[in-house]
Amino acid sequence: MDCIFCKIVDGSIPSKKVYEDDQIVCFYDLEPQAPVHALIIPKAHIACVDDINESNSSVVAHIFEKAPEIAKSLGLENGYRLVSNCGADAGQTVFHLHFHLLGGKKLNTNMA
Ligand code: 5GP
Ligand code: ZN
Repeated sequence: MDCIFCKIVDGSIPSKKVYEDDQIVCFYDLEPQAPVHALIIPKAHIACVDDINESNSSVVAHIFEKAPEIAKSLGLENGYRLVSNCGADAGQTVFHLHFHLLGGKKLNTNMA
């Protein structure tokens, strides 16, 4: 499968990794939209939020369990935003589930 984030998981595309365990990887976004902008992804390929189901959702829970620890490790003591784009209207460009972890400044409150 030709998936950029699967290639980041297997190491064939380099990334600046922030965190990794057996289920998930967190790495810095290539085009940061905030002073801190990282992506948290499952190692297993899930295309987007639409494809989360009973058999794969434990990794999503794991992402949310680890997010506060990852945020703290990036110095986001004052808050952060965790967001996932799903589909065309949301502007999803990479079809491997990912959560943008954004912070390092007072973020824009207009989310749409
Ligand atoms: P989306 O628009 O799908 O929600 O977000 C995809 C994100 O992946 C974008 O913020 C984009 O900058 C980032 N991205 C795309 N390709 C790469 C890459 O090869 N490496 C890294 N680190 N980020 C990437
Ligand atoms: Zn993938």
